[in-house]
Amino acid sequence: MDITAKFDIDRELKRWALDGARKALKVGKLHQIADRASESAIAQGAPVECEKGCSKCCHYRIDITQTEADILSEYTGRTRKTPDRPRDMFQEPIPCPFLVENQCTVYPVRPLQCRGYFALVPAAGSDLVSCRSASLADYRTARLHVLRPPQALVAALLGLEGASNRFADIRDYFPSVR
Ligand code: SF4
Repeated sequence: MDITAKFDIDRELKRWALDGARKALKVGKLHQIADRASESAIAQGAPVECEKGCSKCCHYRIDITQTEADILSEYTGRTRKTPDRPRDMFQEPIPCPFLVENQCTVYPVRPLQCRGYFALVPAAGSDLVSCRSASLADYRTARLHVLRPPQALVAALLGLEGASNRFADIRDYFPSVR
């Protein structure tokens, strides 16, 4: 089942007319489209099992762009770093620097990856694992059933950055945990 089939990303991207605005505004529009794509997927029956207070996915890699880091910096007043090299995929859970008591403190300006990523209940008989049944330590390697941000939005987000600015982990931009 393609749960994004009824949401026309390309039409949305054209409708929002992303040309001309400053980069942070364009990224904000992409975030809004991502929210609408997620709402559409849920309305179409995506069996989302995420619940308030769960933050397992906030403990592993969260790729963001430099503009998304700038938006977080402006919102929080925290200075962002410039990542010198991509972080190796980490094995142990490390909380996102913006996670406080299992709550996202930057929810209105959270990055694209946080808006389009949901754990789904695996179909009966599937060998995929429910996120709820995976421990935090096992989360990274568990074969979860997940909904990811639409690839067209990921491409559009990266397309707004220069060739040298690719994704880096949120902790590379904001290394200190409070
Ligand atoms: S920005 Fe918010 S939603 Fe995204 S990983 Fe950090 S705490 Fe979680």
